Amino acid sequence: MHTVVLGGGSTGEHFVGALRRLDHEVEITLVERRLVGGECSYWACMPTKTMLRAPELVAEAGRSYGAVTGAKLDPQRVFAFRDAVAERDDTSQVEWLETQNTRLIRGDAVAVEPGVLSVDDEALQYDRLVIATGSSPAIPPIEGIETVDYWTNVEATETLEAPDRLLVLGGGPVGSWARGSHSSKEARGCSHGSTPMRPRLSRKRCARKALTCASKHVPSMSLVTVCY
Ligand SMILES: Cc1cc2nc3c(=O)[nH]c(=O)nc-3n(C[C@H](O)[C@H](O)[C@H](O)COP(=O)(O)OP(=O)(O)OC[C@H]3O[C@@H](n4cnc5c(N)ncnc54)[C@H](O)[C@@H]3O)c2cc1C
Repeated sequence: MHTVVLGGGSTGEHFVGALRRLDHEVEITLVERRLVGGECSYWACMPTKTMLRAPELVAEAGRSYGAVTGAKLDPQRVFAFRDAVAERDDTSQVEWLETQNTRLIRGDAVAVEPGVLSVDDEALQYDRLVIATGSSPAIPPIEGIETVDYWTNVEATETLEAPDRLLVLGGGPVGSWARGSHSSKEARGCSHGSTPMRPRLSRKRCARKALTCASKHVPSMSLVTVCY
């Protein structure tokens, strides 16, 4: 029995670990086109939490009734902290796969026919296929958006510069993070939607609000974060 796990994010990794515990003999292959660890390790959970830490501390200092003064953000140190914690290097995850007696194939996979994947044009046969390919941000159909150098969570977590102005489309957890993490006194963001404390907007309502907001501001904004 050959089980192929397509996608090396947290879902794929956990599946590998669980299956190996249940079956010491089964042949397992994991296919990943970017880094083993997926979004969470490099462009989602880990970088976003490090980027929030310093802004949170500065905000806390501001609530200290004047007991702590002069707390200031240094964006470059924020990015350095992020890069130290969420370094884009999957060596340790690859080593872990080895301990699970799991073969790693790096490449872009396409399902060709039942029982066969094509990985960068090489055929890979399987008995069982686990699809763990995750999700990607939806780009709303806003006229002219293709002319804007917009960000998704990938660019927002890789940036080495704090934007002067930021328009956040999407008020879910990712949009709320982008607003909280990148906002500064100078930032004139038009954010919309909910904070994590309030119920999420429906996708339809969110898209409607995004359209109104973007049609007013996109031409004059340098950056847009599209986070759905
Ligand atoms: C900004 C942000 C912050 C987040 N913060 C948190 C948090 O603090 N806590 C939390 O629990 N969750 C958080 N999440 C959610 C978390 O990141 C996801 O739930 C998690 O990454 C989903 O894991 P996954 O394995 O399903 O998908 P992914 O992590 O997306 O992994 C899928 C993998 O499949 C690979 N892949 C896709 N297609 C192919 C193909 N055709 N060929 C080869 N490989 C392919 C991709 O390269 C990717 O590595 C956050 C998400 C975002 C966007």
